[in-house]
Amino acid sequence: MQRPPLVTTRRSILAVASASLAASAFPSIAQTLQKKDSATMEDPTTKYPKPPFEKQSQPFPGLASKMNPKPDHGETSYKGSGRLAGRKALITGGDSGMGRAAAIAYAREGADVAINYLPDEEPDAKEVIALIEKEGRKGVALPGDLRDQAFCEKLVEDAAKALGGLDILVNNAGRQQQAQAIEDITYEAFDATMKTNIYATFLLTKAALKHLKPGSVIIQTTSVQAYDPSEDLVDYAMTKAAVMNFTKSMAKQLGPKGIRVNGVAPGPIWTPLQVSGGATMEKLQKFGGDTPMGRPGQPAELASIYVQLADPQASYSTGQVYGAAGGSGQP
Ligand code: NAD
Ligand code: MG
Repeated sequence: MQRPPLVTTRRSILAVASASLAASAFPSIAQTLQKKDSATMEDPTTKYPKPPFEKQSQPFPGLASKMNPKPDHGETSYKGSGRLAGRKALITGGDSGMGRAAAIAYAREGADVAINYLPDEEPDAKEVIALIEKEGRKGVALPGDLRDQAFCEKLVEDAAKALGGLDILVNNAGRQQQAQAIEDITYEAFDATMKTNIYATFLLTKAALKHLKPGSVIIQTTSVQAYDPSEDLVDYAMTKAAVMNFTKSMAKQLGPKGIRVNGVAPGPIWTPLQVSGGATMEKLQKFGGDTPMGRPGQPAELASIYVQLADPQASYSTGQVYGAAGGSGQP
């Protein structure tokens, strides 16, 4: 067999030399690419912790920083690409859980972000503000109780003032306290759930409309509970159905004004809400195990949905509810 002649040209020597130089001088680039390849192909069933989880409980509203394992809100993983450059967002419950994941993602996509939370959540909120500022974006901390009508109205004004306008409102804060029987739900508890989940959504949306120009968006966090309610989340599930419904009526009302209104319907997600009265200890230990993924979702896994719904490129999506529930509980 005739072998091809070995021709060593100046160009081929240079090519070999530069390739080996690249490999030795920039191993991190190669490693990063490799990592990116394997990240793309990551198995979602093994990507995050599975049950059984350790017993744990915190007083409401709970802190993400005290959970075991700590939730992933995308702190080290979310990468932006300017999808929300120059936008101004107010996110309620922005200290932890889905709101925190959205806050981090929005800042990395180029938005300035104001977050609301309860005063007890200051340690979580401080971390979020630091992460927003690390992106060179404005981070505004606006603590306060959303059950208070006057506070809701002031919150929107304070956010718009601090951000120099408002074009994204994320109604994400929520109260969930499980109760085995309707007799166990006191009037006060029922009232608190309604005020936090429904009244605040109504009041903040109404107040925000003064500031929202065509192209603005409103996003609600609803839940699989809107469609498939659990027997021990009666009052909470009612509110999530209401918020889902509000999303659809408001999309019709605001569509002609160029304002889009959408919702996110998470399944079981590993957040403080669940360890501060939202789930029984028994449910918590097995949390998410009954989904096809065999595990709960992490807030980081929903960040891109909040981004997508706010992205001006999704300009024809309104009145939609996007789910992320590990394969179960959808309408
Ligand atoms: P989370 O505890 O991290 O967030 C809820 C936030 O609501 C708290 O951080 C708190 O700041 C805020 N909040 C509660 N009461 C408030 C009040 N009176 N005033 C001001 N803020 C108040 O938990 P999360 O799971 O990320 O919750 C975010 C949203 O997701 C909620 O609307 C919740 O109903 C919804 N959701 C959660 C799950 C889940 O499994 N974790 C599933 C479906 C929907
Ligand atoms: Mg919180």
